[in-house]
Amino acid sequence: PILLENTKIEIKDVTFSYKGSSKKVLNQLNLTIEPKEKLAILGRSGSGKSTLATLIRGDLTPNQGELLLGGVPTASFGDRMTESIGVIHQTPYLFHTTILNNIRIGKEEASEEEVWQVIEQVGLKEMIEKLPDGLQTMVDEAGLRFSGGERHRLALARILLQDTPIVLLDEPTTGLDPITEQQLLDTFFDALSEKTIIWITHHLQGIQKMDRVIFIEDGLLEMSGTPAQL
Ligand code: ATP
Ligand code: MG
Repeated sequence: PILLENTKIEIKDVTFSYKGSSKKVLNQLNLTIEPKEKLAILGRSGSGKSTLATLIRGDLTPNQGELLLGGVPTASFGDRMTESIGVIHQTPYLFHTTILNNIRIGKEEASEEEVWQVIEQVGLKEMIEKLPDGLQTMVDEAGLRFSGGERHRLALARILLQDTPIVLLDEPTTGLDPITEQQLLDTFFDALSEKTIIWITHHLQGIQKMDRVIFIEDGLLEMSGTPAQL
């Protein structure tokens, strides 16, 4: 990975509309995210949370304004943004290959030992050990042989292995029951304590662990504060 000394994220006056739409999903949004900060982003469905995440990751470009990573415009990072920011999406994507390759995506040089380490961290060791083909077990794109929680755990293992300084979680627990969700979030946040975490969520459960919570509404930052202030 690029070893960024400064992983501060600055979002400056960012306005964004999707092509062919006049709706400003984000409207001159300003937000600074400090290195290692644990930030929760809340907002109603359609308020622009995932769009903001995609902009931060550099997969969309703002119509106006700019995004900086460590003081450098993210536009100049190109593909290398993926080395700085790991993402877990609402529906984690799995590939039609082995468990080993699914976890090693983006870090093909990782040894099996390193892969087992992250598997243990996300609590999948017992489950994978029991599979007749172990790490060589084939996964299909839909991840049919895995439960929702296991798919999310696989995605987290991938992110841990990539070891990016910034991790963006876009509702990483969608569709899970509250107990599994809480367990998974505990695993996430323990494993990522030294990273910047940007956690998009639609409910307040679990936000006590965050440094700051912001609400997005109509493309603007509506409210911001520590969990205790809310
Ligand atoms: P949710 O909580 O449901 O995930 P969200 O806050 O993540 O919602 P976004 O997915 O960022 O919301 O969507 C913000 C707005 O942009 C919505 O009005 C949505 O319809 C629109 N939008 C999202 N993706 C696209 C796209 N690819 N093309 C056009 N419009 C889009
Ligand atoms: Mg979303």
